[in-house]
Amino acid sequence: MKSASIRTFPDPILRKKTQAVTVFDRSLLKLVATLVRVMKSQSHGIGIAAPQIGVAKSVAIVDVSKRDPKTKRLILVNPVILEKKEPEARKEGCMSFPDYTAFLKRHRWVRFRWQNERGEFCEKISTGIEAICVEHEVDHLKGVLFIDHVTCLKTDLFPRSSSH
Ligand SMILES: [Zn+2]
Repeated sequence: MKSASIRTFPDPILRKKTQAVTVFDRSLLKLVATLVRVMKSQSHGIGIAAPQIGVAKSVAIVDVSKRDPKTKRLILVNPVILEKKEPEARKEGCMSFPDYTAFLKRHRWVRFRWQNERGEFCEKISTGIEAICVEHEVDHLKGVLFIDHVTCLKTDLFPRSSSH
């Protein structure tokens, strides 16, 4: 893989629906390692999806352990959200939109299923920031971006003031 960097909106790869992973081999492990490295290189990075580095495969990483020490890094292959509860309007950002944050509705409780990097099926309930991040990354794998959930781009989209 050529050196990976974050694809930013309106790169068309961000709108592509990803393909499910069916082969759990070394190239998948390499993709996971690259995603983790690129995510860690970004100061706001708590999650990343493969399309954000130009790969249209259903692979994402969620790691909110800095904000919620009870959590661990999740390697999500072919993730599917099964149930969501506790809607909440909140401000969030996305590495593919370095200049903006936005108010939108997420859920503070999600139940989801995925495969780990060895292809084993897993299921979990996440709450709080982890739930919100899982929802954001699973959206990326469907070509859905956080701006799609914003009710009014005029009032609910904000320039990101902090440096990154
Ligand atoms: Zn994002």
